[in-house]
Amino acid sequence: MTSLAQTDPEIFAAIEQERHRQTHKLELIASENFVSEAVLEAQGSILTHKYAEGYPGRRYYGGCEYVDQAENLALSRVKQLFHADYANVQPHSGTQANMAVYFAIMAPGDTIMGMDLAHGGHLSHGAVKNFSGQLYRSVTYGVRRVTGEVDFDTLEGLLREHRPKVLVAGASAYPRILDFARFGRLARQYEAYLLVDIAHIAGIIAAGLHPSPVPEADFVTSTTHKTLRGPRGGLILAKEKYGKILDNQIFPGIQGGPLMHTIAAKAVAFKEALRSSFKRYQQQILTNARTMAEEFKQRGYSLISGGTDNHLILLDLTPIDLTGQVAEKALDQAGITVNKNAIPYDPRPPMVTSGIRIGTPAVTTRGMKEAEMRVIVELIDQALSDPHDSDRLQRIRAQVKDFCHQYPLFSPEWET
Ligand SMILES: *Cc1c(COP(=O)(O)O)cnc(C)c1O
Repeated sequence: MTSLAQTDPEIFAAIEQERHRQTHKLELIASENFVSEAVLEAQGSILTHKYAEGYPGRRYYGGCEYVDQAENLALSRVKQLFHADYANVQPHSGTQANMAVYFAIMAPGDTIMGMDLAHGGHLSHGAVKNFSGQLYRSVTYGVRRVTGEVDFDTLEGLLREHRPKVLVAGASAYPRILDFARFGRLARQYEAYLLVDIAHIAGIIAAGLHPSPVPEADFVTSTTHKTLRGPRGGLILAKEKYGKILDNQIFPGIQGGPLMHTIAAKAVAFKEALRSSFKRYQQQILTNARTMAEEFKQRGYSLISGGTDNHLILLDLTPIDLTGQVAEKALDQAGITVNKNAIPYDPRPPMVTSGIRIGTPAVTTRGMKEAEMRVIVELIDQALSDPHDSDRLQRIRAQVKDFCHQYPLFSPEWET
C-alpha cells in the first residue's frame, strides 16, 4: 500500500495498527472472521468504480458486461451452495436484507414477531431502537430460563394471540440448533410468513452441519461476513415466486447502485465455500467451540444452555460475580477480544450485562484446533480470576502475542 502510505499517512497508520491488532490478539468475537487474500483482492479491486443500478442484463448504465459476469457468478454459486431457487446478492448488509423482505410483505403497523434482543435476537428483528421496531408492531419470543432453548410453547401462544404477518427465526447469540422445521410448521399453521435470518450460521448451514431453513422458509436472509467468511455484506434467498418483489425492494426500493467490488468478493467467497475444505473448516469451528465449552465447564464456568451446537458459547458470569463489561475490558487488556452480551433474563442493563459471547470462526481460520482452544480457555480463566490486576493482564497479553505468532491471519490451512 505504498500509494496510500504517501497520500494519507494517517489512514495508512490506522490500517497498519489494526493489522497489528488483528495479528497479535486473539479474535473471539463470534460475528467476525478473516477472509482469504483472494476475497480481499476482489473487494479492493477497480470494480468499486462501476455504477450498475439494476440487475444483470437489465441495468440503468452502459458498460456493465463484466460486472454482470461477476454478479451472475455470485448468484449461481450462492444458489448452488444453499440449494435455493432465487437469490439477491446486492444487500449492503444483513439489516438491509431484512429491510427489503419486510418492505416486500409488510405495511407500517403490521405485526412482526422475532426473538427478543436480550434472548439472543438481532436489532433488525423488531427491537424498539431499530426501524423494525418503529415501523412495525413488534412482539417478541424468547428462550426458557432453565434450558436456554427456544420456548416454543410461549411462541405458539403469542402466534395465536397476535397473528403476526411475519415470524422471524434466527439469532446473534444463540448457541443451539434452531429447529427450522418446527418454525415452518408453526408459521404455516398461523398463516405468517417465515423469515429465517442465518447471519451467524450461514457457513455451518452451507457445509451441511446445521439443518437448512431453505425448504421451510419463505425468505432466508444472511450476512456474508460471519461464519460464511466473505466480505462484509448481505444476501437474500427465497422461493422463485418472490423474486420480483424482492429485487424491486432492494433496487430501487431501499438501495441505489450495488457495490460491485463487494459482489465480486462475495462470488469468490461462495466459490471457496463450495470447496471440500470448507466443510472441514466448518467442522473445525464446531469442534473448537465444543472443546472450549467443555474446558470452561471443567473449570466451573456456567454456560447458557449448558454448551453449544454451533460456533459460539455464551458465558454466564453471575456465579463468579463479574459483569460482562468488566470481563470484556479485562480480556481486552489481556489481548483477547470478546464482546459483553446480555444473557436471557439479564437483570443488568445492555451496557453492563452479565455475560460474554465467545466465538471460534476467526481463530479457526488462523488454523487453531482443540489444543489451542484449551490454551485460550486457560488464558481467559487467568484473566478473569483477577480482572483488576493490570500487571497480570499485561503478562497474559505478552503470552497471547507469542502464541498468535504461530498462526498467520492468512493461513494456508483452508486454502485447498
Ligand atoms: C449480524 C446480524 C445481522 C446484521 O448484519 P449487519 O450486516 O451488521 O447489518 C442480522 N441478523 C443477525 C441475526 C445477525 O447476527
